[in-house]
Amino acid sequence: MANTIRIDLSSDTATRPSEGMRAAMAAAEVGDEQRFEDPSVNALCQRIAALLGKEAAVLLPSGIMCNLVAILTHCRPGDEIILAENAHIVGSEGGGASALAGVQLACIPTKDGTFSADDVAARIRSARGRVPRSRLVSMEQTTNRGGGAVWPLDVIADVAETAKASGLSVHMDGARLVNAAVAADIPAEKFAAHFDSVWLDLSKGLGCPIGGVLCGTRAFIEDAWVWKHRLGGAMRQAGVIAAAGLYALDHNMARLSEDHANAQLLAEHLQIMPGITLLSPSIQTNLVFFDVSGTGLSAEALAERLLARGIRIGAAGPHHMRAVTHLDVSRDDVIEAAEVVKAVIAAQA
Ligand SMILES: *Cc1c(COP(=O)(O)O)cnc(C)c1O
Repeated sequence: MANTIRIDLSSDTATRPSEGMRAAMAAAEVGDEQRFEDPSVNALCQRIAALLGKEAAVLLPSGIMCNLVAILTHCRPGDEIILAENAHIVGSEGGGASALAGVQLACIPTKDGTFSADDVAARIRSARGRVPRSRLVSMEQTTNRGGGAVWPLDVIADVAETAKASGLSVHMDGARLVNAAVAADIPAEKFAAHFDSVWLDLSKGLGCPIGGVLCGTRAFIEDAWVWKHRLGGAMRQAGVIAAAGLYALDHNMARLSEDHANAQLLAEHLQIMPGITLLSPSIQTNLVFFDVSGTGLSAEALAERLLARGIRIGAAGPHHMRAVTHLDVSRDDVIEAAEVVKAVIAAQA
C-alpha cells in the first residue's frame, strides 16, 4: 500500500539525519540533562542562546512544546494571546494553548501571516474587572500558512513596541527563524532582540530528527524548566539529540539559501502551468503555496496522483497545495517534480 516516495516536498520535516549528523550523534558526550550534566545539551543551549542574543535556553522535544511551554510560562488561564488567524498555534497544535494553558486567542485576519502595530493596538483590552487580560503577542518568523513570508525588522519593532507599551510580552514562533535570517541577510539575533521569548526548530530546515530550543532571560528559562518537567519534556542523555543540533548549526544553516533558490525555481515552473496559480506574490523562503482549481483536480486528487508517481506534495485545503524545499531535495529533484506535476495535469486536461 505504501508508495515509494522519491521526492518528498510535503514538509521540511521530511529530512533524514545525514551520515555526518549520525556520526556526530553516535560520538556525542552525554550526561543527565535534568541535572544539567549533559555537556552536549549545555553546549547547544549556550550556542543557540548566543546566536539569538538571549541569556539562556532550554532544549525541548518539539517546536510545539516550545510554543506551549512559552505560553504556559507567560500566561495564566483566562489570559489572551494576540496572533495571526493562520498561526501554527491556532490551527496545528491540537488546541494546546486552550486545552493546557487555558488561554484564549485573539486572531488577526491576515493573508501572509504578518500584521501591524495597529492590528495589535485594536485588540489590546483595557484592564477592567470582567475583561480578559491581554498578555502576549505571538509572531511567526517565517510565517508558515502565510507562505513563508519574512517579517520585516521595522514591522516587528513596531508591533513589539506597541505590545510592550501596554505591558504585554512578545513571543516569536521561530520554527523557521534561520530561514528568515538567511533570506533577509539579517542576523537571527537582530530579529530576536524584540522578543521576550523565541525558539528555533532543529527538525525543520536544519535537518535534525528531533528538537527545538527555546530562549529568553535566565528567569524565564527557569520558569520554563518547571513546565518542561510537568509536560514530561525533561529528558536524560539528550546529548545525542543536541549533538545533531550542534552539527546542524555548523553544516546546515548557510546552505538554506539553496532551499530558497529551489523553492523559487519550483514556483517559476508551477506558475506557467495551465490551471495553477501561485498564492503568494513572491517566494521569500522555502514554502510554495499554490491553487490548483484550474486543473480540474482537487488538491487531494492531485496529491494522490503525484504520490503514485513518487512525488509527495501536501494538500493545504480543497484547492490549495503546499510544497516545501529542504536539505534532502536537490535542484534536479525540483525540476523532476515539476515535470511530473505538469504531466499529471496534462493527463487530466
Ligand atoms: C513546524 C512548526 C511548529 C511546530 O514544530 P514541531 O517541531 O513540528 O513541533 C510550530 N510553528 C510553526 C510555524 C511551524 O512551522
